[in-house]
This record gives sequence, structure tokens and C-alpha cells, in this order.
Amino acid sequence: MKRSNLDLWVRKTEGLPVLDRAAVEALQLAGLNALLERERARGGFYSGLPGGLASLSDLASLPFTTQADLAARGSGMVLVSQSEILRVLTETSGTTGPAKRVFYTPGDCENTVSFFAAGLSELVFPGSRTMVCMPFSGPYGLGELISAAVESLGASPIKTGVGKSCGELSDILRRERPDTYVGMPAPLLAMLKVCGRGTLRRALVSGDACSLSVEQGVEARLGTRLFPHYGSRETVFGGAVTCPAHEGMHLRENHMIAEIVDEEGNVLPRGEYGELVITTIGMAAMPLIRYRTGDYTRIFKEPCPCKSPLLRIDRVTRKGPGAEILKLDEALFGLDGLVDFHAKYAGSAVEILALTLAEPAQAEIEAAARRALPEVEVRVTARKCTRSDRPLYPGKRSLENAEAL
Ligand SMILES: [Zn+2]
Repeated sequence: MKRSNLDLWVRKTEGLPVLDRAAVEALQLAGLNALLERERARGGFYSGLPGGLASLSDLASLPFTTQADLAARGSGMVLVSQSEILRVLTETSGTTGPAKRVFYTPGDCENTVSFFAAGLSELVFPGSRTMVCMPFSGPYGLGELISAAVESLGASPIKTGVGKSCGELSDILRRERPDTYVGMPAPLLAMLKVCGRGTLRRALVSGDACSLSVEQGVEARLGTRLFPHYGSRETVFGGAVTCPAHEGMHLRENHMIAEIVDEEGNVLPRGEYGELVITTIGMAAMPLIRYRTGDYTRIFKEPCPCKSPLLRIDRVTRKGPGAEILKLDEALFGLDGLVDFHAKYAGSAVEILALTLAEPAQAEIEAAARRALPEVEVRVTARKCTRSDRPLYPGKRSLENAEAL
């Protein structure tokens, strides 16, 4: 099996003669200590931490940064002057409470573009045409960063964005003849079911959890293996990406250190499932130390068949209220005739609106949903999908109103 292009990227970016586990860990410890020193010198949010650590395992002795810290004290975590800040991304979590803000410099965005290009180079080739189905929100938005990475590979981005109707997507597929897709997983499966694969052959999915049923549905329709990617605003969108072995996602370890912890915050050994905690040593504007992502996965114990020394994470899921939509995704997207669905709590019952390819098989959808959520009352309304229907979630899928219970 060929080495992952990500290995070459880390080696070149960091100027390493050899990329092995010892080199990666030496790089991480140096990056972490440089960060701790900067934090201590400036007296900001992390100033109470030691100015350096003797080994990477000592990282476990430092306190966590939580999502609440980020919302309440995010600007205190910024490590550069305001004039160096290129972009601030704001995300409101839930309906109340302060918004979480993440800051970037131009260099942070350039690093992301170059990481994206390394990951995408496994499936985007010079002269090829990539449908970019992520939000285009102005300079250095996610869609723009992906497009820049595609262009750097000598390929053309087709800037599709999110929220297009089935009819619009069908027209784009026919007119633009893309061979590659980059975007969220469930909308990709919906598009393939309604429009067929057309000229599409390969896809990288990100931006939301990807259930096994969605992955299998996409792979069966495209005829190739899917490339899942993991990222978040806190990693300046780029965190981990699948290599040609398709056995987990290699972490961007030159810019971040990953740990898996249990509910009490104890670091778990490799192979065990828990919450992903990241320390973003490579981010200039807003490095985070032991940030609890709220995402659940494991770090594989075994080396990858591609022989990369970069650690891999497994499929990323959620716990708590976010877990229920994943159970429904798993159960419902496996139904051939179902295109998309939206779910919300109405009192203690779950109401599902489903769009179907042919005449709605309401009873079949209801039975599958009840098997997925046996403890609650489920009501399904299904109707046939039309050309004017758009994805039922513009962004991350969720079971709405779950917090209100
Ligand atoms: Zn690999």
C-alpha cells in the first residue's frame, strides 16, 4: 500500500528528514512547550499553567478547557494582537447562553488550506472537477478554504454551497460534470438517491457525523470508498483525514495533540472509546490546551496498513441529546426509498418528517424509527420528494428541542 500523502506533507511542512513516531512526538513536545512559554509570558487565560513540561504524558496533569470556558472567556485565549486576526467565527450553542467565538490568523487559514490539499490529493487530481458543498461565507470561509485547496492541486472547484434544491443539484451535476464531491455526508447520500451519481466517482465528507448506513449508502452508489474527514472550528476546520487504507482518519499531529478521556477526565489507553480532547499547538491566533470537544471516538491501537506513524481516530459520534439523531440516521438512511428526514421533539414524542423517492412507505419508516428509539413515541409523516425540496438540515443534523425536555 502506498504511503499517505499526509505523511509527506507533515515531513515537508516541518522539515523532518524522517517521519516516525519519535519525530512526531518530539515535534509535539517542542510545540507544546513553546506554547506554554508564550502563555505564561503574556499572563492570559492559560497563564497559571507551567511554562514547560518534561514529557508529552505530563500533558494529562493540566486542566481541561471546556466549551463553557470558550464561550465565556474566548477572547482571553487569543494569543495574537487584534490587528493580526483575520477572521472570527461565532457559533451559538443552543438557544441561550453566550456564543462560542474562535479566532484565526491568515497563517492559520493557510495551514488549513495546505492540510486540506494534502488530504484531498488522495482523491482530487489535476484537471478534475470538485463539487464543493460547504458554506461560502466570504473570504476564508470553509467553502473558500476548500476551493483554494482544490485549486492548489490543479483542479477546479464547483462552488455549490449548501441548501440547494434537488432540481438545482441535478442541473449542476449535468452541467458541470463534477468527478469529486466535498461536503456533508447525509446531503450527499440524498443527492445520489435523487439525482444518481452522474459523473461523480469520489467523495470526501466532513462537517457532521457520518453514520455507517450513510457511508455504506454512498459507497454503494459511487462505487468507491468514502474519505471521511474530521474538523471543527477549534481546529480551524482541519483535524483528521482518511488515507487510502480507509481504516480511520489520520490526525493532523503536527498541529494538534489528541487524547481520549473518560467521563471523569482520565486519559484512556489507545483503543478505548471516550471523548476527544485536543491541544492545538499549531494554531497561532487561538491555541487551545486540553479542549474537550464533546465528540466521541477512539484512537486506534494498531498501526495503519499505510504504515503512517500519524495516529488515527475512528468514526466520530456524539453522546447526550446529540446521540439520538445518530441512532435515527443509522436506522433510516439504510432504507433505500428514504431521501432525507427531519426529527424534533413535540412534548415527549418524536415527530419525523420524511422525504421519499417513490410513494411513501410510512409504516416501514415508522417501524425503523421505533426500533432506533424504542423508549419514546415516534410519529412519522412522509411525502414524496420533489425537485424543489432542499436538505432538511442546512447544517449539522440534530434532534430539535431535545434540550427542552
Ligand atoms: Zn493510513
